[in-house]
Amino acid sequence: MVTVQMNPEVQRVLGPEGMAQARREAQRADCATCTKRITGRANVVVTGAGGMQVRVYFTHPGCMASSVTELREPSDSPADDMRMVSLPPLPGGHGRAVLVAQLESPQYFADTPAAELTDVLAPYLLRQGFEPVGDTATEPPLLERWVAVPAQVPGIETGGGLLTVLDDQAEVFFTGPVFTPARWRRTALESGQCTLYYGPTELDPASRDFPTQYRLLEDAAQDGRLLAARVPCMDRARLRAAAANE
Ligand SMILES: [Zn+2]
Repeated sequence: MVTVQMNPEVQRVLGPEGMAQARREAQRADCATCTKRITGRANVVVTGAGGMQVRVYFTHPGCMASSVTELREPSDSPADDMRMVSLPPLPGGHGRAVLVAQLESPQYFADTPAAELTDVLAPYLLRQGFEPVGDTATEPPLLERWVAVPAQVPGIETGGGLLTVLDDQAEVFFTGPVFTPARWRRTALESGQCTLYYGPTELDPASRDFPTQYRLLEDAAQDGRLLAARVPCMDRARLRAAAANE
C-alpha cells in the first residue's frame, strides 16, 4: 500500500475527486524523477495548474517534494514516455497476440482544476475507435488504418526487436524495443492482427511469467482501466507491398 503526500497547494488544485484518484493511481506508479517503481510513500506533483491541462506525477519522497510546479516541458507526445509489453494469446481468450501500452508515469488532465482527472491519451484513443473493455476474452473493434510493425534487428538478443505502431494518420503511437517472442510474432503475422490494450497496469515488460501478466491484465480490464482495439500487424516486407498497392 502506497501512501501519498500532497502539499496544500496540490490538494487545492486536485480537489477531493482528484485526490482520491491520485491515491489510487499511486499504487502502481513509477517515480517521475528516477523512473523506479514507488513503494511505501509517494509525493504527488502537479504541473500545468495555470492552464487547461493539469498533469499528475508521483515521485519518491527523496526525489522531489510534493508541489505544484513545471516538472518538465510538457511533451507534445505523451507517447514518448510509453512502454509496451507483448504477450502470447491469452488462454481462453480471443486468440490474438497481445500488446499492452502504458505510460511510464500516469498523466492526467482536467478541463478545470478540481474536475475529474482524465487519462491524457484516452480522449485521442476513443476518437480513434478504441473502446473501454471489461474483460480480455472479448475481441475489441478492428482499426483498419492502424498498423503494428514488428522488426527483428540483427545483433539484438533472440526475441528482441523493434516495434512501431502507427495511427490512422500514420503518426507514431509507439516506437521502441519490445520483446516479441517467436510465438508472438507467428500469431500476430499469420493472422495479420493483434490486440492493443492501453491503460495503467502493473505489467512488467521484462517478465516471462505470463500467467501473472495475464492476471494483471484481466484485473485492469475488470477495474475499467483499459481501452482496447484490434490493430493490423505486418512485417516490413508486407507493409511495403501494401503501400505499393495503394
Ligand atoms: Zn525516485
